[in-house]
Formats: sequence, structure tokens, C-alpha cells
Amino acid sequence: MTGKAATASRDVTGELAFLTRALKAPTLRDAVPRLAERARAESWTHEEFLAACLQREVSARESHGGEGRIRAARFPARKALEDFDYDYQRSLRREAIAHLGTLDFVTARENVVFLGPPGTGKTMLSIGLGIRACQAGHRVLFATAAEWVARLADAHHDGRLQPELLRLARYPLLVIDEVGYIPFEPEAANLFFQLVSARYERASLIVTSNKPFGRWGEVFGDDVVAAAMIDRLVHHAEVISLKGDSYRLKNRDLGRIPAASHDPGENP
Ligand code: ADP
Ligand code: MG
Repeated sequence: MTGKAATASRDVTGELAFLTRALKAPTLRDAVPRLAERARAESWTHEEFLAACLQREVSARESHGGEGRIRAARFPARKALEDFDYDYQRSLRREAIAHLGTLDFVTARENVVFLGPPGTGKTMLSIGLGIRACQAGHRVLFATAAEWVARLADAHHDGRLQPELLRLARYPLLVIDEVGYIPFEPEAANLFFQLVSARYERASLIVTSNKPFGRWGEVFGDDVVAAAMIDRLVHHAEVISLKGDSYRLKNRDLGRIPAASHDPGENP
């Protein structure tokens, strides 16, 4: 380091430490000395130096925060909204997903429901939106309906259902995948209802199902419970119905798959 640089850094080091702490920007703090040296060596303009510093912090935030939240969300796979093939899934307007991708629904505490037969992209779209939310700074948790119920049943048996629901309320977005593949026992249906009610107008859900709402009575073993749940779920929700053949069977000459679009639970 030159004498001049050492004098300058002695003057501003403490200030930088304070300011980067105030900004919660530790990567920026760590990057400044090395970037400053390079800037001096390579005669960067002030603007170039500032851009390089900010770039470090932005990349760190994108990778750390986003990555950490994505890992914590426990998505079953990595899927990007950008990779969704709208030419294959003709029932879906690109703009509808682009709009959801802005995450206004999370801010507004609204829900998204994807309905449709297997392989039409419900899980992919849920993951894609969930990852977007993670990258935008929201905490997300992903699980299947059966996994959510198992988790709530554990909490219930330990007498900590309410604390668990309160804890989950701190997540702006929960994804409940695969409602309908496995019918619920009455206790499970009740726990599921509590989860949906606890989040109503407080935080968002993305729910996917292979069954139209008209058949949720069968899933929950009770038409009244199903109706009350659907009521809360869709009051503030974007409901998207996907149609068509399974993307999994694309380009595979299997002929028609018998009844796959109706009851995969019985024909997995
Ligand atoms: P679902 O949850 O509706 O059963 P998935 O979202 O799991 O279906 O989709 C099945 C597979 O096909 C996944 O690997 C998914 O990424 C892919 N897929 C489905 N639809 C599309 C699409 N329109 N464009 C690209 N990939 C798709
Ligand atoms: Mg799925």
C-alpha cells in the first residue's frame, strides 16, 4: 500500500466499518480494501470503483440470502419459471404467470391455486414461484399436503399446534403440493383446515391439486369442511386450471393413458 492510501484508509476505515454495519453489508466492507487497491493500480474512475463495490454486495446478497432461503424451503427440485414451455401448456397465459412472478400476491397475502391433471406443471410452477419469492427475500416452505398434515399432527400430539401455526405464520409463503392424491382422515382434514384458516388474510399459500374443487369433499371426507376450506382459500386467490397431457409423457408414444387425467391417486 502507498503512504497516501494508508493515510486515507486510516481516516475512513472506522467510518466504513460503521456505515457498512448500518447498511448490513459485510461483503461490501470486506471487498473495499482489495477493490480500492485494484482501483488505484488500474486507475478506475470513482464510478467504476463504486459500481464494483456495489456489485460485490449485490452478488453476495443474491447468492447468500436467496440460496439460503431456497435451501431452507426444501423444494423437491430446482425449477425456474423461465423454463416453463407455454407452447406445450396451451391452457396457461404467459402473462398470468408473469404477473404472479412479480410476487404481488405475496405482498397482498393472497393465494395461488393450481388445479389440473398430473404432469401439467403444477409442481414446477409452484417451485418456480417459490424460488422467486426466496430470491426476493421472502421465507418459504414447501411440502406435500401429506407432509404438512404429518407435521401438524406431530405438533398437535405434543400439544403445540397453536405455537406451530404461529411459527408458520412468520413465513410469508407456504406451498402445499398434491392435495387430493391421498384422501385425508378426519383428524388430518381438521388439521389441514386449521392451517388454511390460520393463514387466511395473513399470509400466502400456493396449493396444487389434481382434483377439481367439486371433488375436494371426497378428499377431505366431508363436504362441509371442504366447502369452508375452499371458501377461505379462494376468497383472495388466483385459481389457475391447467389442462392437457402430461409433460412427463411428452414425445413418448404411449397412446392414451387410461383415466390418468382423472384419478392418479388410484392409478399412480
Ligand atoms: P404436476 O405437478 O402437475 O404433476 P410437474 O410440475 O411435476 O407436474 O411436471 C412434471 C415434469 O414435467 C416436471 O419435470 C416439470 O418440470 C415438467 N413440465 C411440466 N410442464 C412443463 C412445461 N409446460 N414446460 C416445461 N416443463 C414442464
Ligand atoms: Mg406435482
